[in-house]
Amino acid sequence: MNAYVTDFVGAVADARARNIDAFIAANTFDRPTLVIDSALVAEQYDALARGLGTDNGGARIHYAVKANPAREIIEVLVGKGSRFDAASRGEIELCLSQGAAPEHISFGNTVKRPSDIAFAFNAGIDLFAADAEEELAKIAEHAPGARVYIRVIVENSEADWPLSRKFGCATTHVLSLLGYARDLGLRPVGLSFHVGSQTKRAAMWTGTLDQVAAIWHAAQDAGFGLTLLNIGGGFPAFYGEEIEHPTTYAAAVMELIRARFGEVPEIMAEPGRGMVAETGKIVAEVLLVSKKSPNDLHRWVYLDIGKFSGLAETMDEAIRYQFQTARDHEETGACILAGPSCDSADVLYEHRPVQLPVGLKAGDRIVIRACGAYTSSYSSVGFNGFPPLDVVVL
Ligand SMILES: *Cc1c(COP(=O)(O)O)cnc(C)c1O
Repeated sequence: MNAYVTDFVGAVADARARNIDAFIAANTFDRPTLVIDSALVAEQYDALARGLGTDNGGARIHYAVKANPAREIIEVLVGKGSRFDAASRGEIELCLSQGAAPEHISFGNTVKRPSDIAFAFNAGIDLFAADAEEELAKIAEHAPGARVYIRVIVENSEADWPLSRKFGCATTHVLSLLGYARDLGLRPVGLSFHVGSQTKRAAMWTGTLDQVAAIWHAAQDAGFGLTLLNIGGGFPAFYGEEIEHPTTYAAAVMELIRARFGEVPEIMAEPGRGMVAETGKIVAEVLLVSKKSPNDLHRWVYLDIGKFSGLAETMDEAIRYQFQTARDHEETGACILAGPSCDSADVLYEHRPVQLPVGLKAGDRIVIRACGAYTSSYSSVGFNGFPPLDVVVL
């Protein structure tokens, strides 16, 4: 929108990443490596918590572990008093191993393995998500009497990485599931939703919150006495387009919630991307710069990292990463950017090419900004023999 604000946000992001830049400059890397600054994780937690009013009766933060499960990140967040949203036994074990209290972990996946439900319940976890009868029946059998919240589908997400219809039940089905949970002896305490990942402006929550509030009030009118509202994630990261400061953004979302829901005893927020994306950069290498023929207008730049080794969110060119090279002061030109694997889907940006220095060549280092979320956790074990993303936490 406003060039000054954009530059300002970019300058702030660059200044915050100075420890990462210094570490990258001082080291060599034999494979793509994600470098995380754990101090930035603590800062980001504080910034979000201030806006959410976490310490003043506002929303509690349950970090969405899948965004980045590095144990050092979990450890820092445990130290900050964060809670956690886990999707599997493995994520639960990770949080417990870093000292998280079981009553501070929610099991938020709506598609759970029965043995994982039993494991969680025996470990002391008492809060589960569901969006279907079969799931509620599994929870009732393996976690009798547990607290559950019903995940609701919201329409018309304005997010850059929307979460589609895979999760949640139709708004018309919510009351029936709440009643079914109660009949099964569970405690249906609330509702959850996800506004869509990378929802760039707080105002974009309005339509979603209107939809959820309508069901919330219908459930209260039906006597369910709901006490828990789980607002999910969606908090954005800076990928080059202006966003609001995390504190401002979170405070604006809380305002929108208060206006629609009134007093809610317990609000949970589950930031993933907004907590960790800006806390890390990937250092990678150019493997090849080529043209398909001498007079081809298109320049292809191949990196040693691609869709299967950390940059999965370039799918449909949804998330547009920013790149830094040692030649950034030189002339730039458009190029098609691709990963190293022998899979033709492993092209990162083609429809909207990226601008990179025309002098870029094989062997040059390339640093990718704001890569702390959904990179290492999406990296394959080693598709095509390329090593999975290495992770270093400062
Ligand atoms: C992935 C996920 C999140 C985190 O979403 P972000 O947009 O990364 O903040 C939160 N809640 C649930 C249930 C999720 O599946």
